[in-house]
Amino acid sequence: MATHRIWNPAAECMPREQLRALQLERLKDVVRREYDNVPLYRRRMDEKGVKPEDIRSLDDLQYLPFMQKTDLRDEYPTGLFAVPRREIVRLQGSSGTTGKPILAGYTRNDLDNWSEMMARTIGAANATADDIVQVAYGYGLFTGGMGAHQGATKLGAMVIPMSSGNTAKQIMMMQDVGTTILSCTPSYAIHIAETIHEMGIPLSSLKLRAGTFGAEPWTEAMRKRLETLLNIDALDIYGLTEICGPGVAYECLEKQGMHVNEDHVIVEIIDPVTEKPLPYGEKGELVFTTITKEGMPMLRFRTHDLCQLDASPCACGRTFVRMKRIMGRTDDMLIIRGVNVFPSQIESVLVSIHGVAPHYMLVVDRQGATDTLEIQVEITEDVFADTVGQLETLEKQINERIKSVVGISANIKLVAPKSIPRSEGKAKRVIDKRKL
Ligand code: ADP
Ligand code: ZN
Repeated sequence: MATHRIWNPAAECMPREQLRALQLERLKDVVRREYDNVPLYRRRMDEKGVKPEDIRSLDDLQYLPFMQKTDLRDEYPTGLFAVPRREIVRLQGSSGTTGKPILAGYTRNDLDNWSEMMARTIGAANATADDIVQVAYGYGLFTGGMGAHQGATKLGAMVIPMSSGNTAKQIMMMQDVGTTILSCTPSYAIHIAETIHEMGIPLSSLKLRAGTFGAEPWTEAMRKRLETLLNIDALDIYGLTEICGPGVAYECLEKQGMHVNEDHVIVEIIDPVTEKPLPYGEKGELVFTTITKEGMPMLRFRTHDLCQLDASPCACGRTFVRMKRIMGRTDDMLIIRGVNVFPSQIESVLVSIHGVAPHYMLVVDRQGATDTLEIQVEITEDVFADTVGQLETLEKQINERIKSVVGISANIKLVAPKSIPRSEGKAKRVIDKRKL
């Protein structure tokens, strides 16, 4: 049984009744502010015939219009700000590989609240002022670095703001300063962990005991691998730029899903097609409403992330509802020969097979009228030395497992160790040539 240290028990363990009352009060307030100050919201609400005073219970949330990423693009750069420019003290943004980034503006209170949410996140790894948190998320417009930094600072831990990259130096700092908590994307954590092993660094020379990993999808198998390679507790954290950045939801040491910071956001699950709210426990799209944000509040923001909520009590004592691991995105679901395929399903198969490294690339193409899926899989050094026959057997084994779990057969291409590019931020794992 894990012991649980809770950063802010008054909030994190608030009785549900009291929490719901607080949510309603804050919801009414934010809807009013949005209606009065943001032309797009007022227009959308008027179109739906909803007025701020129509929000009388939390159930009334379902009558409010949705927001989408495209709305942020259309209103770029500051069209969704709900306060005068001089009250905005920070801009952050999402990478947006093409064109303009998505921008989010924060007031001073927003930064305080975000820091609080991230303090809870890092605190859930039982962190205190005695901890040393190495932040290897990227710093800059991306919310990962600054978010983790502010949260760890609020908690009173010592922060090493490394940003991502320069892996040898990351490891040197861990050894020299005695980092106890690593904060980065799970794919970068794997890269750091593998490098530690390749360099022959004994784990006894490190003081690492936990990691808060997020910003991209990962799997239980990757958790196991990170925990074994680094001898740590690997915790999942979730967030997105439009809501605040990391800290929207965080796992406790029970590792049974991420608690949503419900005094700051309201979470819903909807059917992505009918857009109707679904009961807890059903799989659907996550939708978030910020209830404390001032700079750029979001009402019913559609994340396109597929997930399930779990309202059962957690052994840690926190009362916030939990969200399961992200199961995929409505928009990066691949449809291959008519079958819905999520990269995460393929990943979970790969990491469970001996001799396969958690580095892969999916290449989708079309020959004539038929979709093809090639899975490039990196093998480990020890398997690399195997005979051609043994490698063919491995290919066959992977293909069979993929077929039984995902439902389609793929062309498995084993590639040499280290040949798939490593990421220091979010990993890119799909090349869909059909769209090019
Ligand atoms: P960018 O748009 O630059 O990638 P964001 O931080 O806004 O930056 O990305 C948010 C998205 O990242 C989420 O909607 C989700 O798809 C993904 N994400 C974040 N954290 C996790 C996590 N723990 N597990 C799975 N996906 C995650
Ligand atoms: Zn818990």
